[in-house]
Amino acid sequence: MITITQQRARCIGCNYCVEAAPHRWRMSKRDGRSVLIDAKERRGFWTVKVTEEELAANEKAAQLCPVKIITVKQL
Ligand code: SF4
Repeated sequence: MITITQQRARCIGCNYCVEAAPHRWRMSKRDGRSVLIDAKERRGFWTVKVTEEELAANEKAAQLCPVKIITVKQL
């Protein structure tokens, strides 16, 4: 398993994470920030646990994120 985390308040809505991992990210029409699908929020950090199949795409999202608010960790 891996965990993906997003510090959502700092998102600038560039869409790169959605392009890199479209099954795990989408853009919110409400506030223009990206949404980490199925994630739960705690103190501003949104986190979801998924299988390793999603590792490569989400590592790419983390690399591409211009404000570096995405982290991916292998458990
Ligand atoms: S790549 Fe980063 S800044 Fe861009 S939409 Fe995704 S989380 Fe937000």
